[in-house]
Amino acid sequence: KPRILEDEEGGVVFFSPSLASSSSGYGYASIEKQRQRLPVYKYRTSILYLVETHATTIIVGETGSGKTTQIPQYLKEAGWADGGRVIACTQPRRLAVQAVASRVAEEMGVKVGEEVGYTIRFEDLTNKGVTMIKFLTDGVLLREMMDDPLLTKYSVVMVDEAHERSISTDILLGLLKKIQRCRPELRLIISSATIEAKSMSAFFQARKSRHRMEGEELPRMEPAILSVEGRGFNVQIHYAEEPVSDYVRAVVSTVMLINDQEPPGDILVFLTGQDDIDAAIQLLTEEARTNRKNSPGLIILPLYSGLPRAEQELVFSPTPRGKRKVVISTNIAETSLTLEGVVYVVDSGFSKQRFYNPISDIENLVVAPISKASARQRAGRAGRVRPGKCYRLYTEEYFVNEMPSEGIPEMQRSNLVSCVIQLKALGIDNILGFDWPAPPPPEAMIRAVEVLYSLGVIDDDAKLTSPTGFQVAEIPLDPMISKMILSSSELGCSEEIITIAAILSIQSIWVSSRGAQKELDEAKLRFAAAEGDHVTFLNVYKGFLQSGKSSRWCHKNFINFQSMKKVIEIREQLRRIALRIGIVLNSCESDMQVVRKAVCAGFFANACRLEASSQSGLYKTVRGSQEIYIHPSSVLFRVNPKWVVYHSLVSTDRHYMRNVISIDPSWLLEAAPHFYQHQRLNPIVH
Ligand code: ADP
Ligand code: MG
Repeated sequence: KPRILEDEEGGVVFFSPSLASSSSGYGYASIEKQRQRLPVYKYRTSILYLVETHATTIIVGETGSGKTTQIPQYLKEAGWADGGRVIACTQPRRLAVQAVASRVAEEMGVKVGEEVGYTIRFEDLTNKGVTMIKFLTDGVLLREMMDDPLLTKYSVVMVDEAHERSISTDILLGLLKKIQRCRPELRLIISSATIEAKSMSAFFQARKSRHRMEGEELPRMEPAILSVEGRGFNVQIHYAEEPVSDYVRAVVSTVMLINDQEPPGDILVFLTGQDDIDAAIQLLTEEARTNRKNSPGLIILPLYSGLPRAEQELVFSPTPRGKRKVVISTNIAETSLTLEGVVYVVDSGFSKQRFYNPISDIENLVVAPISKASARQRAGRAGRVRPGKCYRLYTEEYFVNEMPSEGIPEMQRSNLVSCVIQLKALGIDNILGFDWPAPPPPEAMIRAVEVLYSLGVIDDDAKLTSPTGFQVAEIPLDPMISKMILSSSELGCSEEIITIAAILSIQSIWVSSRGAQKELDEAKLRFAAAEGDHVTFLNVYKGFLQSGKSSRWCHKNFINFQSMKKVIEIREQLRRIALRIGIVLNSCESDMQVVRKAVCAGFFANACRLEASSQSGLYKTVRGSQEIYIHPSSVLFRVNPKWVVYHSLVSTDRHYMRNVISIDPSWLLEAAPHFYQHQRLNPIVH
């Protein structure tokens, strides 16, 4: 039986990760029984028959019905992984890839990395010749196509969570349709939680016919559609009586209300990101302490994509009797992951979404209202085990009259630089004429081509340049970062820049402040560099190495030890890739000017200048004259150098630059003369 660690202060209970992982011996049905109880089990034979006879099968079924964990196993059991072939199952999210792979490995009684494996960027847990079922992000499968355009090692590709319409999913669908023309034996399964199967079916239906060779047996090319009956229970919806101004506080009071008034059952809360999840957890913990009489045994757990593995696993562990689990999650629990035992859902009505404006060339993650389709999905999470309740923190009037009915595919609201370079690298030259499930806006395409041209990645004919374009495409990072790495080798600082690239590709190297903002800021000051955040990262990395990669040192300095270990791993992989594509590894020792130049060579498009008259820290982007500020988490906050380039933006009431470095404007002209016409910079440069 799992032991519970009682928190002496009050009713809040936290699990110790090492105690919570096993659910066996806890009176639960055997794994085989559990598998047979899932709704897809009844459809096992039909699914296998449709996949056998059709090139493409579309499967729609409610979240939790067993699509992701069961279908790959059915396929394996039916022989689709015989003869060294592999069954692939893609997910839009890394966390889902890991969680699902470990669940399926557990069900099959094998270790992850053997018969069941997974691959996400910078992490490959598969074993060639042994792995039969492979979970991977859709982005990783796209990368695999660069080496193996027809995906010859796979017998079946299951594109899961297709309703999410992530950029990579959409590109993948377009390419898989092409591959099927050359490899009719390849089977596709497209699975989705919502019923939008018709347009997907129409997309795969519309194809040029292919001549059948004599004696050749082809599967039927028109897609089969199968809908898995769920067993969802009724969910009663409660709306807010009036608009909610602070949804974090509203979440806290709603959870307390449920806990006071409702019978046992776990609570799943949808917030937008790590920041508000952490804030809600802190408030809720305090609240539960003061109200301890009424709230015995709340187990409060976060769930978001940057979460360490041990903490992820806690959300799946069964809730002990007499306790109530509260999982505070991002969108990831909407369809990608199923949590058992949830009876109450609290829906903030928001999620973090990517938005791109091709005119200002600004892309950022914004907290934005969800769609009705999402709201229904979220509510559905409450009806898995018995009738449930969903508390919407918005009014019914808003839901009915103002909430958009469907979300917009990511393809149509993103910066397309990475997308275009991937297609180019796969030899798709006519990107405007590509067979998209949802065509992207032409302005965004043109912008992307323009940026890639300025980066020297494509030439006048919009073909990848050699070697730069091909090298940039080989590095599994944003093209701007890849270009920064390429330039660093010429500038003599590739070791430093690779460290920076590794740190920029994880969420944060700092521990989240959780009420210790002042201490965190002081710790940051110990490493702060006048040049900016990138150089600060180098100082942290150096300190970490000097400490002998000590976790105590990290703890003392508010640095996340797990993140630093990850940085070391990613750094090693990037060095290997760099060597493979002919980048010279070299160090500039303490010459930070070349480091800044290298950053500028990749990120010139993100240049901003401080407004001459501005005391308030107001910057404007050089390209679009957008108003923008340095984020308080940056070491350059309040320092406000005249010229900076930034790595990314966050927007709330204003646009804020995160990870900022100061530059000399003349470097912009050096890095991208065609991008910045002289006139635009001259009056300020001289
Ligand atoms: P779908 O893909 O249709 O949403 P899944 O195959 O992901 O459904 O999940 C089927 C069931 O398997 C869930 O209802 C849940 O009971 C169980 N399950 C999935 N992942 C885990 C996990 N990591 N730990 C425990 N149970 C899990
Ligand atoms: Mg699933």
